[in-house]
Amino acid sequence: MEVGRGCPLDCYFCSSKIINAGRVEYREANVFVEEAQKAFLNSENSKVVISFNHDNFLSNKRKFKEFASYKLENNYFFPYVCEGRIDALDFEMIDLLYETNCRSIFFGIESGSEKIQKLSRKNLRIGTDIFEKVKYMRQKGIVVELNFLVGFLEETTSDLMQTIELAGKLSSIDYFSAPNHSLLSPEPGAYITSVTSQVDYILRKDSVFYKDLINSSMPIQSYNSKFFNHLYMIKNKNYDIEVMGVTASKYFEFLKFFHFTTKMITEIWNKTYTEIFEGILENEVGGYISVVIKNMKDSLTVLQEEIITYELQRYWSITGRTDEQPFMYEYPIQMIYFELLETEQLFYDLQKYLPKKTKVRMA
Ligand code: SF4
Repeated sequence: MEVGRGCPLDCYFCSSKIINAGRVEYREANVFVEEAQKAFLNSENSKVVISFNHDNFLSNKRKFKEFASYKLENNYFFPYVCEGRIDALDFEMIDLLYETNCRSIFFGIESGSEKIQKLSRKNLRIGTDIFEKVKYMRQKGIVVELNFLVGFLEETTSDLMQTIELAGKLSSIDYFSAPNHSLLSPEPGAYITSVTSQVDYILRKDSVFYKDLINSSMPIQSYNSKFFNHLYMIKNKNYDIEVMGVTASKYFEFLKFFHFTTKMITEIWNKTYTEIFEGILENEVGGYISVVIKNMKDSLTVLQEEIITYELQRYWSITGRTDEQPFMYEYPIQMIYFELLETEQLFYDLQKYLPKKTKVRMA
């Protein structure tokens, strides 16, 4: 549901400012909240969640509070998801997000490098503040989606490794603070598009867009990159974007499935996130985990080994990279974590977010 549009900021990879001619608009809270409530009540699916569409829903605290007040005063319980900048949030707003039944928020973090934050005009301060807010949202049960960009024009390997480290640290907060990534693409109207051209772009044959179009026999090569920009990544002069792009995809996939394994590798085995990244480059995700289990075996407790095995089996099963029977794991995994919490103090307070039973079936 559209609740407004536009963003007051001007990140150099984003086309929001051009598309909205620099304007930032918010629909009146009483209008869109009523619409959302009506859509929620009319839905035949009792699990429906309303998705609020706005480039930066949280950028205006006054408007956000108007929305929250209207929803709370009318006791409208409908769940919703939204997106915004994490630095626009304060703890009072997080309390209101929780009270108004926000289920999930998408934040663009983009880079762990201060240099890239500045050059790209994203200007997010990378500090403890982000961790504190993510932890607080998780304590409130709000799913936190964090997106990172790989392939900034000025990015060096060292900048990229700072992003890799930040994403790793944020992912280990708990199971529902999930980092994702995208490769920088030439958005129409964005600054980076004005300083690059077709010769700087590489067709992404691994992208879902490419696969969809090629499967429908469409003549992709003749398409204008200006309108099909997500089919492309931009060459980087400091590293091979094709190699780094593929490795970054595997690394983020690794973070998605191996939250606790990552925490153990870094906190018990004292490996850095860069070493994990390089390990995946050499061995692929499954191969890397097998090496980890082999090398850590003597130092792992039974519970730790159980969790790594659980994450590995889940990974094989969901990604379909196994000929084995569908994974039917019914071990009370939350008890494992609970025991770990009590005995080793290794993790944050997770048990209340974990499912009673974990059952994964292949499609
Ligand atoms: S990336 Fe987000 S914060 Fe930056 S200009 Fe676009 S909408 Fe605004």
